[in-house]
Amino acid sequence: MDRRKFLASAGLGLVAAATPISIDAVTKKARKARTVAKTTGGSKKLKLTFFPYELKLRHAFNLARYSRTTTPDIQVKLEYDGYVGYGEASMPPYLGESVESVTTFLNSLDLEQFTDPFRIEDILTYVDQKAPNNRAAKASVDIALHDLLGKIMGQPWYKIWGLNPANAPVTSFTIGIDTEEVVRQKVEEARPYKLIKVKMGLDRDQETVEIIREMMPDIPICVDCNQGWKDKEHALEMCHWLKERNCLFVEQPFDKEWIDETAWLRERSPLPLIADEAFQRLPDIVRFKGVYDGINIKLMKSTGLHEAYKMVTLARALDMKVMIGCMTETSCAVTAAANLSPLVDFADLDGNLLIANDRFNGMTVENGKITLHDIPGLGITPIPGK
Ligand code: MG
Repeated sequence: MDRRKFLASAGLGLVAAATPISIDAVTKKARKARTVAKTTGGSKKLKLTFFPYELKLRHAFNLARYSRTTTPDIQVKLEYDGYVGYGEASMPPYLGESVESVTTFLNSLDLEQFTDPFRIEDILTYVDQKAPNNRAAKASVDIALHDLLGKIMGQPWYKIWGLNPANAPVTSFTIGIDTEEVVRQKVEEARPYKLIKVKMGLDRDQETVEIIREMMPDIPICVDCNQGWKDKEHALEMCHWLKERNCLFVEQPFDKEWIDETAWLRERSPLPLIADEAFQRLPDIVRFKGVYDGINIKLMKSTGLHEAYKMVTLARALDMKVMIGCMTETSCAVTAAANLSPLVDFADLDGNLLIANDRFNGMTVENGKITLHDIPGLGITPIPGK
């Protein structure tokens, strides 16, 4: 299936209309750009600029704990010697960051002091130590720095890391908690995908799964409770019920503080349990051995790619499964995460498809699989006029 047909069948006419350029054309253009990306006379200092950009969601996002139709976001640009790197901070309200907090944090940074942009450790240690928390704000700098450096090197990051793009996994398509009519509409949209992620934690959990099983009997599903299950015996029953319905794993079944209950469930559950809301940064992972079977890494939690790569390594050393996910984000941050995807077991990188006002062309999903393109940096190109 070509990309235009894929987008049309995925119900993404709006996105297709906004991006009438084929990926081949984008790749060719980017290859050409590889030799001309550098404008003459650029400053040999890192220059950071940014602006707020509210993400408009195509469907209301209903989770066990809240619902919303927009996500606050800040788009970042990092310039050096005529090259431009793009980054972003996405701030779902439950994570505690806002346009104001990210603006304050980014304004506090003096990146001009760094004359060599390849000093990733120096630059990101400085950013991290500037203030605690501010994870999405820190991620926006990390992502823009990676885009910038990849462009200077003329290579995409999955290549710089030595990864085989053929090993990128399928990505799941998320179906939220909603009315039967909306669930049916979203299952139709999910048809090009090979894995469906079902949001759970309210009273219609089983009904939603039954609708999916009726419409797409063979597709594997995974479940994200977003801390919504309140009773461990019920959770164990649900894990057995889901196992019989071709479910691969359960994400964040209980409140993030329920460590003992989660360990209890893990001992008995026929399905692996994956941590999401329970952790943010690298040091958090060590205490999960024996509590969860795996972790869901997101760049807005990990402060970006640099730490996310270390998280993958640590989780593997602990014999844990690794999933890479995202918030609602433009193709900028989603494609950044996709560069790491050849290293992971599961990917949930559909955040860009959930918004109506993307600003970039980036990684694509072909036959349900994450497809990385040979474009320097993160592998993104701005959509003209956005
Ligand atoms: Mg989750």
